[in-house]
Amino acid sequence: MVVLVALTGGIGSGKSLAGEFFAELGAIVVDSDQLARDVIERGTPGFDEVVTEFGDEVLTQGIIDRKKLGEIVFGDEAKRKILESILHPLIRAALDNVAAAAPAGSVVIHQIPLLAETGGKDRFDLVLTVSADLTARRTRLIARGLASHDIEKRLQAQVGDAEREAIADYVISNHGDKDELLRQVEHLWNDVLLPKAGQA
Ligand code: ADP
Repeated sequence: MVVLVALTGGIGSGKSLAGEFFAELGAIVVDSDQLARDVIERGTPGFDEVVTEFGDEVLTQGIIDRKKLGEIVFGDEAKRKILESILHPLIRAALDNVAAAAPAGSVVIHQIPLLAETGGKDRFDLVLTVSADLTARRTRLIARGLASHDIEKRLQAQVGDAEREAIADYVISNHGDKDELLRQVEHLWNDVLLPKAGQA
């Protein structure tokens, strides 16, 4: 069987790094932010739907400008809901395609920052969340080049670790160094995910 795993975590928690480690071990890792970009590329049905709904002003040189789109829906609940009603089914279908194409015994991991906020955990066999204290997360994000007002804005749009942990089957705690993160990823891979996929 194919095991479908959600990997969540707040911004700067180390989700992407954990995803990279899982990929090195053999998981098929899909990033929901990437899928959200793919499904509205020029020439896709998603592109047509967004332009029909929001008009030409979301385009820059014929391509959907996600920054402009973000500005339109930011603070406008109704418009944000419309955008989500276009994007979510398309993202879900794209993920279904990845899972359907994966050979038996695969572990497909969907990196999804806002799982706790948007619901939908029931579509997954297993939910993993990466937790890390806010000081460590802020320091890592500043080191990654993010401006601190952007960090605070994004933190405010997300629930806290406790809410993510409440919906998770396993918590990866990324309070230490990268090796400690890797060790937990290896443990989950060998002792939880591979057995679930029927590979161990
Ligand atoms: P997320 O995808 O959850 O926003 P990332 O995986 O991009 O977070 O991690 C944010 C930054 O912190 C990255 O530059 C990453 O390499 C770094 N990082 C993650 N975990 C650790 C750690 N345990 N120690 C040091 N740096 C880390």
